[in-house]
Amino acid sequence: MIAIHEAQKVVLDACEVLAPVATSCEQMSGRVLAQDVVAPENVPPFANSAVDGYAVRTADTQTVPTELVVVDTVAAGAEPKIAVGDGQAIRIMTGAPMPKGADAVVMVEDTQRVGDDRVSIGKAAKLKDAIRDAGSDVNKGDTVFVAGTVLNAAGAGVLASVNARTVRAYPQARVALLSTGDELVTDGSPLKIGQIRESNLTMLDAMIAASGCEVINLGIIKDDEALLERVLLEVIERCDAIVTSGGVSMGDFDVVKAVLSRIAKMQWMQLAIKPAKPFAFGQLQASDGRVVPIFGLPGNPVSSMISYELLARPALRKMMGHTRDLLRPTVKAVLDAPIKRKQDGKVHYVRVFGAFESDGRLHVRDTGPQGSHQLASTALANGLAYVPDGMGIEADAEVDVYVIGNLLG
Ligand code: AMP
Ligand code: MG
Repeated sequence: MIAIHEAQKVVLDACEVLAPVATSCEQMSGRVLAQDVVAPENVPPFANSAVDGYAVRTADTQTVPTELVVVDTVAAGAEPKIAVGDGQAIRIMTGAPMPKGADAVVMVEDTQRVGDDRVSIGKAAKLKDAIRDAGSDVNKGDTVFVAGTVLNAAGAGVLASVNARTVRAYPQARVALLSTGDELVTDGSPLKIGQIRESNLTMLDAMIAASGCEVINLGIIKDDEALLERVLLEVIERCDAIVTSGGVSMGDFDVVKAVLSRIAKMQWMQLAIKPAKPFAFGQLQASDGRVVPIFGLPGNPVSSMISYELLARPALRKMMGHTRDLLRPTVKAVLDAPIKRKQDGKVHYVRVFGAFESDGRLHVRDTGPQGSHQLASTALANGLAYVPDGMGIEADAEVDVYVIGNLLG
């Protein structure tokens, strides 16, 4: 058996970062930049009003209330045609360019209209009040993001704001997904003896997509070696990685094992963890020479889920240009109910649900049955408690939790 950390290292070392491609800013949320982004222009491009109100000369508002003559109105998107002179104001909307002559804006709430063309200013303005200067968000020539930055939705918006409509970024990995097993049913038909409804394909499709990848879902493949080999050799030409579920253990019909042993360079691992002991990692060469990694996950649904989380997801993220955040965070939590286990040479990943409580600490407890087929209790978990080999962990003790879901509800 090998330690999970060693297996993670083997897999990460073997997976290469994909070549950057030109990417539109609309696609950039969740993606990693492969270039620095330097702003070619100021944001905002011109000084403008932060509020709806009146552009004024501060000198005119020092004794309040005071009445000014309203000489014009400027809307967002319009060009101011005249300057504000002594004793004058210009009605101005949020985002509209500042007219010449004005050095502050008084918000409409601090004013009162007087007749058709005058306004009473109720509050003295200070220099630059409610003016957003040109470049006050981003200055022309500023490096807004360095290569390697993982952009969020706001980051994609920033690219648009500096007119970086297309940037070089690491691509989404195209991940081919298949599940094997003659017992698996997906079409809603009544189950015959021995059949079960599949869950892994559905689960892994969502997990791969949530990892930022594009999923090529090949569906359920029968336990038929020739068929599986054909499917793999075809998809290898149009994907960056392959995830399979099932058929990698020691059974007579473990076709994934049989086929991959023939066509790929494989490492059959026995991980010192529970669940998810069997795991296969391999590399298959496409006709253009690309080496495509293969993650052979076990068929038991919980094992499939955990080995995807611990081994496939970090590697796929590396391929997509992530560096610092390959693994999810591990945090300390208080264990509210004891976790009992027996010594077996393995680390147990116990599915837990955690929430922050009034003492400011994260409290966790297990979500129920922990068998490797019991996906229903796993689905309630937002963490995997790391329970080292031994007899378990007492209540109120501290436990390390690998965060797999939302801790904040
Ligand atoms: P295997 O790894 O193929 O030996 O499968 C191990 C166990 O996982 C068996 O009980 C299978 O029926 C079950 N299994 C395999 N694939 C799936 C799937 N896609 N959905 C649900 N259960 C599965
Ligand atoms: Mg099987």
